[in-house]
Amino acid sequence: MLKMTDVKKVFRTDLVETHALRDFNLHVKEGDFVAVTGPSGSGKTTFLNIAGLLETFDGGRFELDGQDVSDLNDKQRSQLRNQKIGFIFQSFNLIPDLNLFDNVDVPLRYRGFNAAERKKRIEHSLDMVGLAQRMKHLPSQLSGGQQQRVAIARALAGEPRFLLADEPTGNLDTQMANSVMDLLKEINANGTTIIMVTHDAALAKQAKRNIYVLDGKVSEVGKSATANHAHLAAVQ
Ligand code: ATP
Repeated sequence: MLKMTDVKKVFRTDLVETHALRDFNLHVKEGDFVAVTGPSGSGKTTFLNIAGLLETFDGGRFELDGQDVSDLNDKQRSQLRNQKIGFIFQSFNLIPDLNLFDNVDVPLRYRGFNAAERKKRIEHSLDMVGLAQRMKHLPSQLSGGQQQRVAIARALAGEPRFLLADEPTGNLDTQMANSVMDLLKEINANGTTIIMVTHDAALAKQAKRNIYVLDGKVSEVGKSATANHAHLAAVQ
């Protein structure tokens, strides 16, 4: 589970202080699939980066699988992230001159698995996203949807409990976006908890639960995105 209670995040520069999260409250149970929507600048990415232990926070409490992560140092935070979290981004973030096998291998090497274990995990995760036959291809030889599948395989190879996705379909056309969404639903059905930030109301509706973020707070929580959809339309 992932539980945030009154979490605050302030970005300070010389001239401005931005309260990106103000008393952010959310409880995500194991096996959930939460879509996060809300207007630009409302704090969605900030929330996701804190949830994924990429970013620290300035107040409140954050528990990951029952562990209070508030006081972890950088090394402990990065160890916990490697153990529990997989991340995917809008821009895929694949390394262009490495083939698919080697791209998926990068975080596994970093985590110190031996060669046989890495090979097994890479083949299994590329197989899961339907790209086992393309292992020796470069990212540039794939469509955008396929590249996002590789990024998902890379995130899954470490067998994370949580998959965090920041606009994973933002660079994809509708058909590719739907196929990536189908894959995420399958991964969720296999037990991985997913939190996905999206501007796409139709995709958000397909998640198990929707939250709507406004001005650094969770302003609505619901099973269906219908209400959020109306909200989004009103804001945009
Ligand atoms: P979008 O939908 O446009 O991606 P968002 O809801 O993800 O927006 P965030 O990126 O979380 O919003 O930003 C929340 C607020 O915090 C914004 O006002 C943003 O300008 C500010 N912010 C985010 N990151 C930083 C940073 N590194 N330094 C200063 N301000 C930041």
